[in-house]
Amino acid sequence: MTVPLSPRLAAALTAAPADRVVYDLPGIQAQYDRLVAELPGVQVRFALKACPVDEVLRLLAARGAGFDAASPAEIAQALATGADADRVHYGNTVKSDADIAEAHRLGITAFATDSVQDVAAIAEHAPGARVFCRLATSGEGALWGLNRKFGCSADDAVRVLAAARAAGLTPAGLSVHVGSQQMTGEAWQQAVDLLADVLTRLDRLGIAPDHVNLGGGLPALGYLDRHGNPLDPPLDKILTLLREGVDHLRALTGRPLGFVMEPGRHLVADHGAVRAHVYRLTRRRQPDGEDAHWLYLSCGKFNGLYEMDQVIHRLVFPTHPAPNGPDDPAYLPAVVAGPTCDSDDAYGGGTHPVRVPRALASGDPVWVLSAGAYAASYTTQGFNGIRPLPQMCVTGPDPLRDERH
Ligand SMILES: *Cc1c(COP(=O)(O)O)cnc(C)c1O
Repeated sequence: MTVPLSPRLAAALTAAPADRVVYDLPGIQAQYDRLVAELPGVQVRFALKACPVDEVLRLLAARGAGFDAASPAEIAQALATGADADRVHYGNTVKSDADIAEAHRLGITAFATDSVQDVAAIAEHAPGARVFCRLATSGEGALWGLNRKFGCSADDAVRVLAAARAAGLTPAGLSVHVGSQQMTGEAWQQAVDLLADVLTRLDRLGIAPDHVNLGGGLPALGYLDRHGNPLDPPLDKILTLLREGVDHLRALTGRPLGFVMEPGRHLVADHGAVRAHVYRLTRRRQPDGEDAHWLYLSCGKFNGLYEMDQVIHRLVFPTHPAPNGPDDPAYLPAVVAGPTCDSDDAYGGGTHPVRVPRALASGDPVWVLSAGAYAASYTTQGFNGIRPLPQMCVTGPDPLRDERH
């Protein structure tokens, strides 16, 4: 399925006289409302690192979302939206004593953890806090596995929550994160099995967590595969498995168990786009005889498209006719790369050419679609002198959609 470009976003991209990243606020709102409707009884806490843009955060807070924050600065940004502190949790297992104390001062009462050392620090600097222990997952099936750095084994999770209880903390929950842009339903199924196992073991020790955090990882729908086709993650299957998982874990414990999910990418990726421009379309022959066209853009890994080596975004060339089929001779295959002197600054690692208009000229606008996740947060302050992209939010009615209704 190709994700349609909203006319509201298209209008803003067309009107943009220079590069920027544009967020479609009603699109993000609709995406949030859809997810909440799909997962009844699950509280959504937006992982704000995916889009730390105040307008986006205020919109989500007003719809009832909470936030997954990873540092005191993110906590402060989340609270500034008006969200109550009990809707914001400290979801990072990596934090210093000073970070914990600052979060406690800001009123945060729920902390992620995965080690007894971190539990001891929470007990000292945020006495009485609720802790939830992150279980490690394999990360299989995800574009970014997030394994190794985070989470602990089932055995250790039992030890960590027992240590929390002994230290006067509330062993409040368990969490998982199955990896970012997780493409399989099986990953959540396995996570539910793991959660069921650990909840059963905790029960034997008289430890009864009152909530489960199913993490982030829900996919964006608009990315392309290496052949330029939509990735097509099985979102409906994933949501069905999540609903079944919630029911299963509630039945297993036989007590009211609250559920939290902390999506990042899924809420924003397909509702943001970058307006960039062409530097140059070139043709270069390598010493080994490889002969390729390269399209250099004004925007790349260090100014908004940090994930471009893993993710292939759909490109639109608004001042050229759209390709007339896959073999249109007005288009040719080119490796697409960003503007810096870094060789990682290229689509798909620089090995997967995409079809671009032959007639592209320096300065022509290019739209990079499904670029709303991680664009604002993963940007350098000026690597090679290239400034971060200005941000812009669009709102208001969607002209075409309103006509149809
Ligand atoms: C980054 C992160 C998320 C969001 O991940 P997505 O893949 O963008 O949904 C959720 N929870 C935690 C703890 C994270 O670090």
